[in-house]
Amino acid sequence: MDIPRIFNVTESAHRIHNPFTPEKLATLGAALRLKPGTRVLDLGSGSGEMLCTWARDHGITGVGIDMSRSFSEQAKLRAEELGVAGRVEFIHGDAAGHVADEKVGVAACVGATWIGGGVAGTIELLAKSLCPGGIILIGEPYWLRLPPTEELAKECLANSISDFLLLPELIASFGELGYDVVEMVLADQEGWDRYEAAKWLTMRRWLEANPDDDFAKEVRAKLTLEPKRHVTYTREYLGWGVFALMAR
Ligand code: SAH
Repeated sequence: MDIPRIFNVTESAHRIHNPFTPEKLATLGAALRLKPGTRVLDLGSGSGEMLCTWARDHGITGVGIDMSRSFSEQAKLRAEELGVAGRVEFIHGDAAGHVADEKVGVAACVGATWIGGGVAGTIELLAKSLCPGGIILIGEPYWLRLPPTEELAKECLANSISDFLLLPELIASFGELGYDVVEMVLADQEGWDRYEAAKWLTMRRWLEANPDDDFAKEVRAKLTLEPKRHVTYTREYLGWGVFALMAR
């Protein structure tokens, strides 16, 4: 079981697989006023940077589940590096339908809401693992401005315009699902650059190390096109943020 190989290649050097910088991740951890010993569940935990740094900085404990074998392995190494391996656990597996054995104070899905079939389904899934009064974290893109055409939405790597909402609509949608938005940290263009541009050097280095790999043609094509696509579309049209929710 694994995710498509292209992600394991292009994001192999990422610690954070979303447009948050380490500073934004720290801002979010502080904003949540996490108490030591709080249990955190993270569906689609990537390389584990959120759980590992929050375990170090706030004394939380956590479980992360991710379908990428290599990201899950990196997460375990990161936990050891930060001296928090006793407090966080990373499971390689499909997080769809996953409910924690023991209820948690924070249940998160940051940049992987397809796991629950979209934002609403993911909130419903996370709620099953949550203590009363707990916080749900949803990391999700939104349109900075509406793409004028479906083609343009596809250039932002959305399937269609309807995949995402404008920020005011996204915030309102949480209310319609019965949740208060109690905190929010938004990424910025610099963060998008860290997420996207870091892939370019990784791809270039991978191509130099693997010139005869069957996959090289695909990676080469992507490296050739991605910088222009990013600055023309994603950088201008897509926002991204993490929203902290509490049931009303
Ligand atoms: N939350 C992490 C990773 C976001 S990227 C971070 O912010 O750094 C999306 C992640 O979802 C990837 O790590 C990918 O491997 C993982 N993923 C995709 N489908 C999944 C599934 N069905 N179950 C668990 N993880 C999944």
